[in-house]
Amino acid sequence: MSRFFSSKYNSLEPYTPGEQPKDVQYVKLNTNESPFAPSPRAVEYAAKAAQSLQLYPDPECRELTQRIADYLGLDFDQVLVTNGSDEILNFAFMAFCDEDHPAVFPDISYGFYPVFAQLNGIPYTELPLRDDFTIDADEYCGIGKTIIIANPNAPTGIALSTDEIEKIVKSNPDSVVVVDEAYVDFGGESCIKLINKYDNLLVTQTFSKSRSMAGARLGFGAGSKELIRDLNTIKYSTNPYNINKMTMAAGLGVMEDEEYTQKNCRTIIENREWTEEQLRSLGFETTVSKTNFVFAKHSEISGEKIYTYLKENGVLVRHFSKERICEYNRITVGTREQMEIFIDKIKLLLEEN
Ligand code: PMP
Repeated sequence: MSRFFSSKYNSLEPYTPGEQPKDVQYVKLNTNESPFAPSPRAVEYAAKAAQSLQLYPDPECRELTQRIADYLGLDFDQVLVTNGSDEILNFAFMAFCDEDHPAVFPDISYGFYPVFAQLNGIPYTELPLRDDFTIDADEYCGIGKTIIIANPNAPTGIALSTDEIEKIVKSNPDSVVVVDEAYVDFGGESCIKLINKYDNLLVTQTFSKSRSMAGARLGFGAGSKELIRDLNTIKYSTNPYNINKMTMAAGLGVMEDEEYTQKNCRTIIENREWTEEQLRSLGFETTVSKTNFVFAKHSEISGEKIYTYLKENGVLVRHFSKERICEYNRITVGTREQMEIFIDKIKLLLEEN
């Protein structure tokens, strides 16, 4: 830390992104990216947009925002497109949390939530998941705080039903409920349909997973016009040109190629089910995942040992040191070939033990 760094960040612990090693060619199953290339149409549109990079992008991101709004059955002013969904989540912490509106989220969830809270000086509480890693929706009912829930949750992969989400939203009419649907396209149930019923619901989604665009950084939030207006106030006070031209164009391309996205999602779900079956037959316990990752632990071999063995053998998965989940690993679902390599390495590890 330099002597110039503001003391307000003294205790800030930044988010640690998953490893992106460049030295070895790993089978990379650690950051929940898509194993599939982006839609060819996205690539084509992005290349064309690159020819006019001397100009600023449209700060309103009109065409793409309208396209997403149409897809969701919402109006233009109910959607805000951002630089990854991380950006809309940060905007939501900035806009809807403070001393009088502290944040609450599960103890096991996306590791960026406490960082956003700390960054913005927001008091927060982490409500423990049940022992089986499910969220007890009743604990959030009438809590009167700004609620942030990943649905499906990460890294557990477990989803809440829309009825449970609605119960939480309905019972907290004076608090914003943010539902982070980063992984919803792999079998979860989106609560976008509740947006016109509740003015306190903000739903966030991303193009990083099902739409194969993690490298382009594109996400969005959807909610009432008033919530979106507040979030726009934050956007125009930080970075009006938050979406670059190539990403904007690529986003349009992928939205025009929904069939490609749906096909890839079906393949990921099939590969997830195959991987879970294999793992269970090898003595692993897995949660019920509705995402593009599997969360698994073995009854005899520690989570850390499995992570280290896999890494030494060319397969990268995500291990968390947090005590409650340190016996688990989160394994991104890749192509069938990648998952076969992963399972072969696991078999070798079990043989060696
Ligand atoms: N929410 C959750 C639960 C995530 O796991 C991630 C990905 N790390 C994000 C949001 C943010 O994704 P992105 O910024 O790539 O849209």
